[in-house]
Amino acid sequence: MGSPAAICFEPNRPLAVETVRVAPPGHGEAMVEIVASGLCHTDLTALDGVNATSVYPLIPGHEGAGRVVEVGEGVIGLAPGDHVIPLYGPECMHCRMCRSSRTNLCWTIKPTRDKGVMPDGTARFSWDTAPVHHFMGTSTLSRYTVVPEIALAKIRKDAPLDKVCLFGCGVTTGVGAALSEIREGDAVAVFGLGGIGINVIQGARLAGATTIIGVDITDRKNELARAYGMTDFINAGREGAKVVQAIRDLTAGGADVAFECTGIVPVMRQAFDCCHPAWGTAVLLGVEPPGAEMGFPPVGVRYGRTIRGSYFGGVKGRSGLGRLIDFYMDGELDLDRQITHTLALDQVNRGFDLMRTGESVRSVIHFE
Ligand SMILES: [Zn+2]
Ligand SMILES: [Zn+2]
Repeated sequence: MGSPAAICFEPNRPLAVETVRVAPPGHGEAMVEIVASGLCHTDLTALDGVNATSVYPLIPGHEGAGRVVEVGEGVIGLAPGDHVIPLYGPECMHCRMCRSSRTNLCWTIKPTRDKGVMPDGTARFSWDTAPVHHFMGTSTLSRYTVVPEIALAKIRKDAPLDKVCLFGCGVTTGVGAALSEIREGDAVAVFGLGGIGINVIQGARLAGATTIIGVDITDRKNELARAYGMTDFINAGREGAKVVQAIRDLTAGGADVAFECTGIVPVMRQAFDCCHPAWGTAVLLGVEPPGAEMGFPPVGVRYGRTIRGSYFGGVKGRSGLGRLIDFYMDGELDLDRQITHTLALDQVNRGFDLMRTGESVRSVIHFE
């Protein structure tokens, strides 16, 4: 099958929009016709050559939604016509991780996913007879992609695919983390008001937080963050080292939960320091540079603070995504205001430029 796709032939080169060949789905796999795909920062790390699981050439994209058009042998839970969201974190439902309620991780197909191939060790994409690798196991910047069944969340058919594609990464990461960490009446701080941070904010509102403090180095996302539930804003560019004290002042001694959404290690430390002694929790969501380490005083943890991390908002992809989509369909979550740009596939490089300059919150590529 021929499919228009954005190919990253090598790092630090614009994406090339070409027609690739997509082989039929293998055992346990399904072919998905992607309707729309949001652009996320992690795609940019592959384009910039700083993503350890990128094998070039590759097709980026991991925030897509579409319809199943063909299933391979052994697929039992999906049929053509089903609406799905590809998951970079699968849920096989059988491994020890899937059977544990302590994690949403499933590493069943991680070894091959991280090499850019399907579980049988080969890629389904090719261009000019040479294989093109999958990225994050999803490659949603291709009109047609092939994904293992265990990495496809089947979703309700009345959910608009050009919007709910955002549940493939940013919205779920932010909202899921907020819902699992925040208790009603909490005071929370959110560092970084990008695609993750603003969704932590609307998740915090949904979870019943009463004080929601946003921290960013620009005022640009202020209006959107306030619309999503932010009650106070601190400009870290102007406040500098005083950010931690400013949060303590606004929260009578420290945040109940602080979310770090920038991946900047010194900001992670601020998220830890601004937490209330004895019970505050710092939740790390941002992805740090390769090899980075974080220091913290052990006494802070011994007296009761917690540092936690979260992957995909702690949401088990196939069994847990439906609940979040229901929140959106019931009007409890907003997607429309954070989709600042909609683009065609041949404008994909412009989409990443808008991300680099901070002009966009989310750009969504529409395939139809
Ligand atoms: Zn992402
Ligand atoms: Zn599993």
